[in-house]
Amino acid sequence: MAESGLLEDLYREIILDHYRQPRNHGVTIESTCSAEGANPLCGDQVCIDVALVDGLVEGISFSGHGCSISQASASMMTEYVKGRTAAEALRGVEAFQQMMLTGEAPEIDGFDDIASLVGVAKFPARVKCASLAWKTLAQALAEGGGSVTTDDGSR
Ligand code: ZN
Repeated sequence: MAESGLLEDLYREIILDHYRQPRNHGVTIESTCSAEGANPLCGDQVCIDVALVDGLVEGISFSGHGCSISQASASMMTEYVKGRTAAEALRGVEAFQQMMLTGEAPEIDGFDDIASLVGVAKFPARVKCASLAWKTLAQALAEGGGSVTTDDGSR
């Protein structure tokens, strides 16, 4: 018990660190695609701009507001995809969604901080918070733009 408590504390610290000092937040880039995402259940919003050059994410910036989980996850996502190819970024989206389904952190390169969100999998309402930025990224990369919502009822 004591050990899992320590791990939870560590994870909480990582999440709060990204929330308080979000990476790639509000930076100016020459974006080639962007998308907006909303999670109406919690009131989270993210807007993601990506500078895709020759299939590589050369720059990424996000803005938005919402709960600590949604904003920390957006920060971690940008850190992960920057410098990777669009295909790798989309595989990251898949790995993240898989982590939210299984409650197990994938052992892939660059997911160290992201693994701190693994505990969110136990709370379906918070999964929507954590997934928002990743879904929005997929919208920007795979669809070239537009908007997504975690309120999937209409689809
Ligand atoms: Zn939220």
